[in-house]
Amino acid sequence: MSLSETKDQQVATKLLRGIIRRDRIPNGLLFWGPYGVGKRMTAFEFAKAVNCRESADDACDECLSCRKANHGNHADIKRIKPVSKTRIITVDKIEEVIETTMFRPVEGGRRIFLIEDADRINEQAQNHFLKTLEEPPSQSVFVLITERPRQLLPTIRSRCQAIRFGVLQMDTVADMIKRDHGCSDDQAYAIAALAQGSVSRAHDLVATERRTVVLDIIQRLIRGEDPLMVSEDFAAHIQDTEKAIESAVKSEAKQQVEADATETVVMEKEALEALVAGLVRGELFEYLVLFDAWCRDELVYSLTRDTQIIYNRDHLQQLRGDIDAAKQDARINAVTEAWKYIERNLKPARVFRDLFFNLAS
Ligand SMILES: [Zn+2]
Repeated sequence: MSLSETKDQQVATKLLRGIIRRDRIPNGLLFWGPYGVGKRMTAFEFAKAVNCRESADDACDECLSCRKANHGNHADIKRIKPVSKTRIITVDKIEEVIETTMFRPVEGGRRIFLIEDADRINEQAQNHFLKTLEEPPSQSVFVLITERPRQLLPTIRSRCQAIRFGVLQMDTVADMIKRDHGCSDDQAYAIAALAQGSVSRAHDLVATERRTVVLDIIQRLIRGEDPLMVSEDFAAHIQDTEKAIESAVKSEAKQQVEADATETVVMEKEALEALVAGLVRGELFEYLVLFDAWCRDELVYSLTRDTQIIYNRDHLQQLRGDIDAAKQDARINAVTEAWKYIERNLKPARVFRDLFFNLAS
């Protein structure tokens, strides 16, 4: 891979290639934009391009430096990331990074730190890191990667050159899904449309049973099944999901404590609970996106009969094309309302029960 082969991020890659070509590489760069659109991959290609011995502004993939990077053993390209969802990037970790900048780069190029989920650097560590950005060690470049740039101190943001990433095009995501999962054209298109330009979300949709669950619920409601029964089944499903998330988070947290006895930040019980609640809520929003897309599709299909603009085009047979537009509008509003209730922390079982009654009416 190289910067020129990166998909759909032409503005970002053009900028990056320009600063490499002119040898005006800032000490701090901030790669920001939505989840799953190629920020990390581009950062890695950028690190390769900076150190490439053949090409003036990209990675050649053939020189010794590029090959080392591709094999994961380039001494001057370092990744820093929170070990898992429960972890923050601590002062200790940042100090370790700063210490290595005191030595010259091993391979003779530049030392590049790719800091993933940079918003998870805690405030104390950010303050510490700020000093490094203010008096940058020579030959070192920090690439901060985040979906939430506002979580970083304004003083950090202002010392980095911001590189913005946008969502990917539908065709790009669909092609990747076809390549990686062997889906049909219609299926890949549906997944890409539902993933809203994020390839990570698209992979997630293929790998989880979320979509199957939603399509099943919709069919049951269309067939006239009692919404109360349907919502009880879904409540049980949510409970299982919640348990799975909770046990995954707890076992990760336990492993970390065992693996890293020097770690000063051990997660408090409340923090752990808040984390689980946040992950569960995120999961519920993903379900609502799918309900919303289905209702939207039925409305569009009824009004236009244009299958080219349908998201769930791999399920055209199940799509009702003769619905009352006003009623469907009300259903779409019900999904929006459910979204607000989940945001306000109302009980999910209750929110979804009300939603299913609205969708069935
Ligand atoms: Zn090269």
